[in-house]
Amino acid sequence: MRVAVVSDIHSNLAALEAVLAAIDAESPDELWCLGDLVGYGPRPNECCAIVQERSAVCLAGNHDLAVRGTIHLAEFGGDAAVAARWTRDVLAPEAQALLERLEPEGSAHDVSLYHGSARDPVWEYVLSDAAAGATLDLAPSPLVLVGHSHVALLAVDAGEGVSGGVAEAGLEVDLRAGRALLNPGSVGQPRDGDPRAAFLLLDLEARRASFRRVEYDVARTQREMREAKLPEALAVRLSAGQ
Ligand code: ZN
Repeated sequence: MRVAVVSDIHSNLAALEAVLAAIDAESPDELWCLGDLVGYGPRPNECCAIVQERSAVCLAGNHDLAVRGTIHLAEFGGDAAVAARWTRDVLAPEAQALLERLEPEGSAHDVSLYHGSARDPVWEYVLSDAAAGATLDLAPSPLVLVGHSHVALLAVDAGEGVSGGVAEAGLEVDLRAGRALLNPGSVGQPRDGDPRAAFLLLDLEARRASFRRVEYDVARTQREMREAKLPEALAVRLSAGQ
């Protein structure tokens, strides 16, 4: 069983298309998505339709919950709230129906899945060894996948405490050593200093993971954002991956 894992697509269709082309070249058995299909970016309906068609498992992120109305927009900061409100206005009924069905946590093939964390599937950012350890202690499975932070990350507990950090492009990980928490990074709005779109490949039998990055047409997404009159700062940050 080989799985491609994506997260935090954020309506960035150019990034999603580039990631799916790279994933197709690997011919995995399934595609899993850890949430935040929408928010920030310009193409929510296309991204929802593609994820609906292609993914075997899909979680809800905090932006998905805000756009569908489960989270009040007052809980969002300025640009995120502006983009969520814009997304509500343009969202197609099929995309709304998809978002309505999603939950922020789940499991598949004995892998625990959270948009945020086991302590708080919607809001917690797992960015420290301590936070990763707390989720590894709570999760029912020894392998945990999270999204939400937009930082590709690895945390492993081989019995002597949790250690890990940011996962560079191309990092290959042997998961047989112990419990592990992985964040694939973000497809549509990376924030770890690498502007390329991120995804993860998992081999559940061989217990191996591979962190990948792929170039995409950032200028195309920025152009689409400006045409949609989305906040300029959200377009600018895509160039730096910050
Ligand atoms: Zn996100």
